[in-house]
Amino acid sequence: MKKGLVFSLLIIALLALFSVKIGCLAEGSAIKEVSVTPNEEVKQGETVFIRIKTSDELRDPVFSYKNKKYKIFKTGENEYTGLLGINTLEKPGKYKIYMSDQNGNLKDKAYISVIAKDHPKQYITVTKGMAGLRATAHELRQIGRAKYTLTDIKLRAEPPYNSPADGCIISEFGVRRYYNGEFSGNYHKGVDIKAPTGEPVRSITDGKVIFADDTFRLHGASVAVDHGQGLTSLYIHLSKVDVKEGDIVKADQKIGEVGMTGFATGPHLHWGLYVNGTPVDPMQGWIKPVNLCK
Ligand SMILES: [Zn+2]
Repeated sequence: MKKGLVFSLLIIALLALFSVKIGCLAEGSAIKEVSVTPNEEVKQGETVFIRIKTSDELRDPVFSYKNKKYKIFKTGENEYTGLLGINTLEKPGKYKIYMSDQNGNLKDKAYISVIAKDHPKQYITVTKGMAGLRATAHELRQIGRAKYTLTDIKLRAEPPYNSPADGCIISEFGVRRYYNGEFSGNYHKGVDIKAPTGEPVRSITDGKVIFADDTFRLHGASVAVDHGQGLTSLYIHLSKVDVKEGDIVKADQKIGEVGMTGFATGPHLHWGLYVNGTPVDPMQGWIKPVNLCK
C-alpha cells in the first residue's frame, strides 16, 4: 500500500513538473488562438468578431483591413477582441485582415470572403420641396461624433441583446435608395421598427449617452449611446427623450419613446448600429430575431 502511495505521489510530481515545462514552452511562443468569425462567408453589412487568446502581453494591438487600422481591445485575462463592420456596399471578394502589436507578439493574418446580400430597393421621387428636409449642420456634427466615438472600456455584455422596441420591422437595413430612378449611393443605415407613439425605446445594452437632442430637423428627437470599444447605437424620431448627455444607461433601460419627429411618415423607431463608424446590420448577430411587419 505504502509503496503504491509513494509511486502515485511520484507520478503526480512528475506530471506537475511536466505541466510547468509546458507552461514555460508556451511563454516564449506566440499566439495560442486567433479566431475570426464569420470568415468563410461574411455578408455585406455584417460584423466580424476578431478574438485572440494569448499568454503574451500585447501592446496596442491593432488589425488592418483595406489599409485602415483599427484597435483591438483587451477584454479579459489573456483575451483581446476587435470588431470589423463590413460596409454594406463592400465589393464581394476575398479580403485580408492583418493583426499586429508593438511588442511583436502578434503577427497574424486571416482572410474573409465577403458575399453579396440581396437588398430591397426603395424608389423615392425627389421634389424641390424636399430640400427643406435636409439635416442641419448641427445634427450632422452630432451624429458624426456619435458614430466615431471610441471608448477603450467595454461598456457592454456579449450579444445577442433584446430589441430596442416592441414591434415589427417595417424597413430593413441596407435598403438601396433610388432618387428619381437612379441609385443615390445612399442606403438605409439602420432598421425601422414600427410601433405606436409612446412605446418605450430601450438601450440595447449598457453604455453612456453621447447625446440626447430634440432639436434635429431631419432625424427628430434622437439619442446616441456609446457601448464601448467602437460600438455605438442611434435611436431616432423619438417623441420623448428620458436621458441626457453623460448618463450611464443599463441594458434594456428606457431612454425615450417612439414617435415620428423629423422626417417620418408614421410612428416608428429608426435604430442604427455602428462599428468603428461603419453602419452595420443590427439583425446580423447583434439582437434576437424580430419579425418583419406583414
Ligand atoms: Zn430608418
